[in-house]
Amino acid sequence: MATRFVIIGGGPAGNTAATYAARLGADVTLVERDILGGAAHLWDCIPSKTMIATGGAMSFADRISGMGLSHLDAHLEVDLQRRRIREIEERLRDHVTELLVSQDVRLLHGTARLKGPHQIVVDTAGGIEEIDADAILISTGTRPRIPSWCEPDGDRILTTRQAYPPSTMPEHLVVIGSGVTGVEFVHMFSSFGSKVTLIVSRQQVLPAKDAEVAAALEDELLRRGVRLFKGARAEMIERTETGVAVACDDGRVALGTHALLAIGSIPNSDGMGLEETGVVTSGGYVEINQHCQSSVAHIYAAGDVSGKLPLSSVASMQGRKIAEHVMGIHTRDHRHIDYEKAASAIFTEPEIADVGLAEADAFATGRKIRVTKVPYAATAKALINDDTGGFVKIISDPATGVVLGGSIVGRHAAELISVIALAVTANLKVSDIVESCLVHPTLSEALADAAE
Ligand SMILES: Cc1cc2nc3c(=O)[nH]c(=O)nc-3n(C[C@H](O)[C@H](O)[C@H](O)COP(=O)(O)OP(=O)(O)OC[C@H]3O[C@@H](n4cnc5c(N)ncnc54)[C@H](O)[C@@H]3O)c2cc1C
Repeated sequence: MATRFVIIGGGPAGNTAATYAARLGADVTLVERDILGGAAHLWDCIPSKTMIATGGAMSFADRISGMGLSHLDAHLEVDLQRRRIREIEERLRDHVTELLVSQDVRLLHGTARLKGPHQIVVDTAGGIEEIDADAILISTGTRPRIPSWCEPDGDRILTTRQAYPPSTMPEHLVVIGSGVTGVEFVHMFSSFGSKVTLIVSRQQVLPAKDAEVAAALEDELLRRGVRLFKGARAEMIERTETGVAVACDDGRVALGTHALLAIGSIPNSDGMGLEETGVVTSGGYVEINQHCQSSVAHIYAAGDVSGKLPLSSVASMQGRKIAEHVMGIHTRDHRHIDYEKAASAIFTEPEIADVGLAEADAFATGRKIRVTKVPYAATAKALINDDTGGFVKIISDPATGVVLGGSIVGRHAAELISVIALAVTANLKVSDIVESCLVHPTLSEALADAAE
């Protein structure tokens, strides 16, 4: 009998695991309470990047005079923007559904929880269904964290899920939280012409990032007129006659027309019957080993609920590895996921991307590294684009030349980082990049120069 594999949650982790496991011969049931594609498509990656792409077109329209064009007067059509987001999500959903159906995955719409180590109960529109499983995947994702001192109303006080775009475009948005999500929303709304105040609890936006990279973003935010409340923690939000007042712990109050919470997320693991089944969690995140197995060997967890890097790309990779582990088959050379080598990006202006070892981490551990940096301005393409801000930084081992990591700040950073990511994963040397004959004129020439 085929392995019965039940997956709870149809985001990137769940639908990738389902497709691969079915391809490898498993009898797969995928339970999703909302839409296939998950929060990634409905609330997170896709709507945010769609809005950012529109904002990017608007800010481009603002600075085209440098390219010998006259001024364009672009403004946002809220309804058209909403429709565009919905259409993109629907096309992606159709694609995911077709893929799953073509692999004979059984799709079940409902809310699932564990009843025992091998039983899942699903609450569907047609009633309760019980399913037996040989292996189970928990890929239920997370939801925005809402602190006790504030109640989002979807009108003036928003979670990220209520901002695509809100019914009235904010004249002045106060963003609480300066991590990746916070700065992407600052960038998005400032591109649309909103005034923005950003509450930054530390002294640097993107506190987890390389200081030089964070400084490049701060410079651009200040150039756009974003007000930074550094070293301040929001502790209360009140509605006022004209909007909102956000009170901070240092006594400052940020006034705006709207407030947006971007202070992290909490795992969707409550009420799932995990602890009762012996699955160990920490802060609600399922603890996993290098195979993504929980403390109960045949119950796996992947994606944001596993508490590893909260990235769609990582969730999908976990899903693929889990499918192979469940079926005891490796479709290609097997490596455990090295979370340290996952590339990530921040879709701001300038765009920011990095992978592997960070300069600051090497210094902190006393590891000897070689750092080479080339500004975009040194490439013909940046001049042609009339966009010379940015740089490529490559970190390598001085003894062997092996590429250990890198950061890119500037246009198309998220695409260009792929070259360094490949080098880091495949243990390539800087000389391998130098020896590649790249296209001219392109920004990737800065990569070859930084590898010299
Ligand atoms: C604003 C924002 C922007 C982001 N942008 C990016 C980006 O550009 N790039 C990137 O790589 N990452 C991005 N992320 C992170 C990315 O969205 C997550 O890492 C990704 O969604 C995780 O996928 P997942 O498979 O864990 O689950 P999710 O996508 O969260 O999906 C989980 C699914 O499980 C379902 N579910 C939950 N409980 C149950 C249950 N009991 N029964 C049935 N179904 C259930 C939910 O309905 C949901 O559909 C962003 C995050 C945010 C907040």
